[in-house]
Order: sequence, then structure tokens, then C-alpha cells
Amino acid sequence: MSTTVSCSIDLESEGKSTGYLTIGDSTNHSGWATYMVPIIKYKNGAGPTVLVLAGNHGDEYEGQFAARDLANNLDINEVTGRIIIIPCLSQPAAKAGTRLWPDGTNFNRIFPGNENGAVHGKLAYYLSSELFPQVDAVFELHSGGRGHHFIPCSHMVWSADVNQRKKMINSMTSYNTSHHMIFPEQPGTDPTTLLPGLVERLGKELITTELGGSGVATFESTTVAKDGLRNGLRYFKVIKGAAKTRQELGLSAPLILDLRGSRSYHSATRAGLYENVKGCGDAVTEGEVIGLIHDMDHPDTPATEIKAKQSGVIGVMRGFPRVGVGDVVAVLGPAYASTDEFPENPS
Ligand SMILES: [Zn+2]
Repeated sequence: MSTTVSCSIDLESEGKSTGYLTIGDSTNHSGWATYMVPIIKYKNGAGPTVLVLAGNHGDEYEGQFAARDLANNLDINEVTGRIIIIPCLSQPAAKAGTRLWPDGTNFNRIFPGNENGAVHGKLAYYLSSELFPQVDAVFELHSGGRGHHFIPCSHMVWSADVNQRKKMINSMTSYNTSHHMIFPEQPGTDPTTLLPGLVERLGKELITTELGGSGVATFESTTVAKDGLRNGLRYFKVIKGAAKTRQELGLSAPLILDLRGSRSYHSATRAGLYENVKGCGDAVTEGEVIGLIHDMDHPDTPATEIKAKQSGVIGVMRGFPRVGVGDVVAVLGPAYASTDEFPENPS
């Protein structure tokens, strides 16, 4: 149990409540400061509990809009159970327009948190120790942020546990995006330090998204975010009405990109200005040029070509063009109509 974070609303009570998580803080400007995180709760009778989280990274906006849409416009009579919404986890980052908190902390690498740490550590600890144990499912809504641009998608990490994998595939596809992406675990990272990695290992249902990027939110990507969230909530039976498939909505069947393989990620080989010469959703063949890195200081230096290491569809392209050596500039992989077609181990 967290002793350093308190919630101003009763999360067990019937009806809609809005309030704050309050965390004691002490800053240069205010010795007795309180850090306040807006939280919204809907409860209407018996049913599952679903937690909706956005703004984990500060420069990712579609999820924040979808969460606020729910907070402002959901009718309590539509709810069958309980929905808890935190529209922006990392407010100092969001207000600065940055991925990371002002002290450089990545909120998505500090789980399960630190009860006696900085504000972000206390917030992560509260989520891990108090909120996650009482929920059945979690939405973790990300976008690409300034650095990357994704085909709006819901995604998952391929689980070795076949039953867990099936459950995750069904949850993922309920978001009804045109594409879904299957990622490997983050290299060199303890997966439980990530919010979704911890939620998955607690045995909870999970839907994670990457809804666009480049530090902007378009009407189209925001609409995908809002529509998918509503359909996912119907899938978890916490709002009324049947969840619909893309086919039932008259949309094309989704494509699923396998990004698990060692030739999926493409990184900058030198510093410069990266130009995407292929876009998100483009099919490319192995060896095809997908991007150029320009050395803007030397007019006689030809652009460095970045070539596709395998054939496939580009799921992620570069957002903000300035790159350093080692920055990821594109992620691509083979596309399948169904995860049933996936090889157990990627090439
Ligand atoms: Zn993110």
C-alpha cells in the first residue's frame, strides 16, 4: 500500500467522480508543494474494472484526447462496472512538450516505482501497488512522440505462453486499427520496469497502442484513438453494446506486422538530417533505399543511404529529422493477415 499518494475521490462509490491523486512534493518554488494528477471514475453496478492511462510520455497526444473524451462525454448509464481514467500520467513532461520528465526520467522505465522516491517514482508505486491489483484490464495509450511516426496501431509483445498470447491478440485486435504490430521485448531492458510489461506479468488484460507520432495529433489519428477505445471498452464488457470487428464496420481486414526479427529495426549510421524516402505503410523489398541521411555541414558529401534489411511493410518511420548515430529511423517487417501465419521464431 502506498502511504505517499492519496486519492481525493472514493474509487468504490457508485456514479461519476472527478478529483486528483495528490503527492507530497518539495520544490525550489514551494517547500510544501502538492503534485496533483487528475483522475476520473465511473461506476455503475457490477462488472469489470478497466483502467485507462495516457500521457505516459509527454509528447504523445492521441491517447490523452481519447481519455479526455471519455472523461467528458461518457454517460454513466452506458457503464456496466467501473472505469478509472488518468488522462495524463506525466504532466511535467506534457507541459514541456517532451517525452521525458524535466529531470530526464522516462516514466515507462521506472516500474514498479519507489514509494520514497521522486514524484514520478511515488506515482508509479501507487499504480503498481494500489491500482493495478484492483483492475481487470488496462489501456496504455502511446503514440510515437517527437522522434517517431507509427501507422496508428494497437500492438503487443509476443508472449511465449500460448494462452496468454491468444488473450493478448484478441484484446489487441479489439482496438480496430488498420494495422497491428508485434514487437520483441525491449533489448537490454527488464520488461517489468515498463508499465505494460508489469501489467502483463500481473496477469491483467492489456491493450497498448502507438497512435501516430512526430509530436502532433491529427484529426484522423485522434479519431482512431477515440473509436478504438470505445470498442475496446465494449470488448471488455464495461460499456454497453457489442464490440464490432473492422469487417462488421465495413472496413478492410487488419494487417499484422511481425517486427520481432533482428532485421526489423534500422538505425542511423551517421549523424545528420534524416529524410524518409518511403512512408508508413509502404511495402519495400530487401535492399531498397528507405531513407537518406544528409550531412548539412558539407555540401560535397553525398547522402548516406539507409537500405531495407528485409522485405516488408514500414510500420514506423522517422519523425523529428535530426538524428545521431544509433537512433532508430525505421522499423519494418513482413505483413500477415493473421497471427496464425506467424513463424514461431522470426527470421
Ligand atoms: Zn510512449
